[in-house]
Amino acid sequence: MDIKAKAYQKYQLDWMLSHGKSLDDLMDCMQGWWEDDETREWCSPKTAFADFEKAGFDGELWACFDEFLESEYLDIPYMRRLLTAKEFEEYLQDQQEKASIAAFRDEFDFLSNFYPVKIRYNGVTFHNAEAAFQAQKDPARSKEFAILAPAEAKRLGRRVNLRNNWEDIKVVEMIGILQAKFQQNPEFLKKLLDTGDKVLIEGNTWHDNYWGSCHCAKCKNQGQNMLGRSLMQLREAFRKEIEGYAGN
Ligand SMILES: [Zn+2]
Repeated sequence: MDIKAKAYQKYQLDWMLSHGKSLDDLMDCMQGWWEDDETREWCSPKTAFADFEKAGFDGELWACFDEFLESEYLDIPYMRRLLTAKEFEEYLQDQQEKASIAAFRDEFDFLSNFYPVKIRYNGVTFHNAEAAFQAQKDPARSKEFAILAPAEAKRLGRRVNLRNNWEDIKVVEMIGILQAKFQQNPEFLKKLLDTGDKVLIEGNTWHDNYWGSCHCAKCKNQGQNMLGRSLMQLREAFRKEIEGYAGN
């Protein structure tokens, strides 16, 4: 079986466990759903299961396969927990094949937060996404970041007083800043959309395994890649928005 299909099955089981459902519950639900419809004719258990998926457990169900591929399947630490060591190897291979954009440099440097670009965010204009992001750590000092180069902003970001809930909101802030970056700079938005369905990985060598994924011998490219994932999420949202306009 294809690693994607295998991973999806394990995810379905994991979803059941984490939602307190047993195999018995699954059987009961399927049987109830079957008996509710008297016109239903015999079909194979596989077909019945595929049909049951439209109903779920009282309307509650795991993500569909396509949704799964765009979310849980991209979550490397989750996949590492879910899969056996051998399957995980296969999974990484599969990810690597799609991940033709494994670092934000050369023609993909515009995806990096260090890339020079004017971004207006929360009333201040910054000269790169890194400065805009670091500034959110301490909004009272936000203006100080406006003129800073990315490395300077990162340094100052380490010295400010972190707002209380920073850990809870940092991803939302990052997505907001990236959204502003691409909305305000259509030439970059076009380039982002041109990356199609490629997996975007902020590959690095400095052990940043939260925003990116470090490929040194110790980290072995298993980071959470939150920056790459945020960019993919935005790319999808922008694409849907554009398709929506075209459809009207
Ligand atoms: Zn490393």
